[in-house]
Amino acid sequence: MITVVTCGPAGTQAVAGAVAELARPGDVILLDGDLGAGKTTFTQGFARRLGVSETVTSPTFTLVRSYPTNAGFDLYHADLYRLEHLSEVIDLALPEVLEDGGVAVVEWGERGSPALDPAHLSIQISHDEGGEEARRLSIVNHGGAWDDRWNQLEEALKC
Ligand code: ADP
Ligand code: MG
Repeated sequence: MITVVTCGPAGTQAVAGAVAELARPGDVILLDGDLGAGKTTFTQGFARRLGVSETVTSPTFTLVRSYPTNAGFDLYHADLYRLEHLSEVIDLALPEVLEDGGVAVVEWGERGSPALDPAHLSIQISHDEGGEEARRLSIVNHGGAWDDRWNQLEEALKC
């Protein structure tokens, strides 16, 4: 696990940028944490690093939105907050889009994880002591997806 504490939205977006820098087609990144933790803020930093110029907001009514990036893959941003049945995740056809070379960032990812790739990066964001804008990001490599990038990620996130 890699743990990083940020002290404002820009810090969380910088962490997201470091993850985006190492992202590859087919990656699944699950974001969890309370409402207002910073999952969408993270996704915005992630998208920006990939050259997405549109403003990324949570795709509340559609569950998923896609954005072309300049990194050679499309970014799929899903938000499972309103998920009622796991079958809705299956309907998103994320495995198929990932097979086609997309990268998925999924807010409230744990809710959908039984239907998603067991090899993924999970990032838990929580409030941290140290003030209103302090967040702790706990990054876990599941199923070996990031084995060969883990050291690079750790290096990139060192202060
Ligand atoms: P979520 O998608 O998890 O519900 P948002 O990203 O929409 O959360 O909202 C997070 C809010 O917290 C934003 O208003 C953001 O500016 C603020 N914020 C304050 N400090 C941080 C931080 N360190 N990291 C991320 N967001 C932060
Ligand atoms: Mg959100």
